[in-house]
Amino acid sequence: MADTKKPSTMTTAFGRPIENNQNSVTAGSRGPILMQDYHLIEKMAHFNRERVPERVVHAKGYGGYGTFTVTQDISKLSCASLFSKVGKKTEMFARFSTVGGESGSADTARDPRGFAMKFYTEDGNWDLVGNNTPIFFIRDPLKFSDFIRTQKRDPGTHLKPHWRRWDYWSLSPEALHQVMFLYSDRGTPVSARFMDGFGSHTYSFWNDKGERHWIKFHFKTQQGIKNFSDADAAKMTGDDPDFSTRDVIEAIDKGDFPKWTMFIQVMPEAEADTYKIHPFDLTKVWPHADYPLQEVGVMELNRNVENYFAEVEQASFEPSNMVPGIGFSPDKVLQNRILSYADAHRYRLGGANYHQIPVNQAKAAKNVATYHRDGTMVVDGNGGGAVDYQPNSFGGPVPDPSVTEPPLRISGDAARYEYKCDDEDFYGQPRLFWEKVLDKQGRENLVENIVGSMTNPMMGIADPRPIQERMLKHWYKIHPDFGAAVAKGIGMDTKLAAAE
Ligand code: NDP
Repeated sequence: MADTKKPSTMTTAFGRPIENNQNSVTAGSRGPILMQDYHLIEKMAHFNRERVPERVVHAKGYGGYGTFTVTQDISKLSCASLFSKVGKKTEMFARFSTVGGESGSADTARDPRGFAMKFYTEDGNWDLVGNNTPIFFIRDPLKFSDFIRTQKRDPGTHLKPHWRRWDYWSLSPEALHQVMFLYSDRGTPVSARFMDGFGSHTYSFWNDKGERHWIKFHFKTQQGIKNFSDADAAKMTGDDPDFSTRDVIEAIDKGDFPKWTMFIQVMPEAEADTYKIHPFDLTKVWPHADYPLQEVGVMELNRNVENYFAEVEQASFEPSNMVPGIGFSPDKVLQNRILSYADAHRYRLGGANYHQIPVNQAKAAKNVATYHRDGTMVVDGNGGGAVDYQPNSFGGPVPDPSVTEPPLRISGDAARYEYKCDDEDFYGQPRLFWEKVLDKQGRENLVENIVGSMTNPMMGIADPRPIQERMLKHWYKIHPDFGAAVAKGIGMDTKLAAAE
């Protein structure tokens, strides 16, 4: 917002008042610029360095601050301080994003939406870095960069032809479940306010008695689900590509604070060994009938940022930010994200000290006491003259064994293991999605959206048939009606497509 107060004097970055910001210093009125115009040099040098690398995924996003309030007592499941009692409030920050587009791309793209949350707790920051879908396209992080490239630009043309994604998906049946979510109506939410959020991975809770449960997080929108049709999303891309961003900002500004109810699904630790579905497989949900949703609290966004770059672009969400009472699981993709998010922020935000940026600081923590020193951009006093090694005999901070997570039993021979890969694994939950979750209109829209993409001029390939045929075989295996409807839509011989 523009400031209407009497302006203060403009200065250089080092505080020297500036006399003129319109005319460079030149040798005579028609002569060249002099090196001594350090104001010009500082101004251009800073401008040249204004961009930091944008996020390699989730580059386009918007965030705001809010409050998480506990409504149900779950302290028997987790000793995390933010869940300690009903009514407890914790300040938080959330960022919503698309995945594949660049920082200036449209909010309206058919794309999963990032749903990243940072809770400023007394025991440090807890980041739950989720999406608007409970599952994902892959379940082994070794595939992540390959998959993401299919959503990005062609290395030759810098275009985004759709054949790249369909080629990959047709060869990766584990992705089908998420592909169906993506091409259903919920693949184009009207705005972040009108979509659900999910932790997606399996996480763990542990309590004061050292008991562990496996947990899935769900955030149900209190605004109701609202989606654009494919055509309306395309129109909005032209009319107002920043629509979702604007919608969230305006709602918060008006005091119409968006809210989500947080639920969990809870699996006792030992059940993971025998449950029929691999509990750490990121391409599967836990059916609600087996693990019903239990309410935990409400998240409300109630304050917009004052500066986008400082608070949103520099916000570092990272699944490695855990607090006592909440833990990881053996989900392979989660394990990789523990490394890769913090690693990405060290790269993007100038090195090892990005935790000192205000939005990232553990501002509610009772104590932040590390032995980290030095590195680029130290702005917090760097520990002053305090002792910088441990153990020491000078009263430096010491570990606290009371926050030890209960031990996790792990065994096995080191190897590159495949998941179970059979028809039930690849097609079972997608079939339930088609048969049970989508109504007639939802199925028709799903088919139309898939057909639109697989026949779009942006498909951009001379002969799309081999890819289309491979995809059709998957749709048929999910459900014959699904396969037949897509085959009809793309004008393919259904008998040929159904054949193995
Ligand atoms: P239920 O029948 O108990 O619930 C169906 C779920 O599907 C609800 O969470 C509903 O969310 C969600 N849903 C409805 N429409 C869509 C859509 N277009 N895109 C994505 N999600 C949608 O489900 P089950 O637990 O028995 O699972 C059956 C199937 O439902 C699964 O195979 C999976 O495909 C899908 N699903 C399951 C979820 C889970 O965590 N168990 C979560 C989401 C989907 P809402 O309440 O907001 O309408």
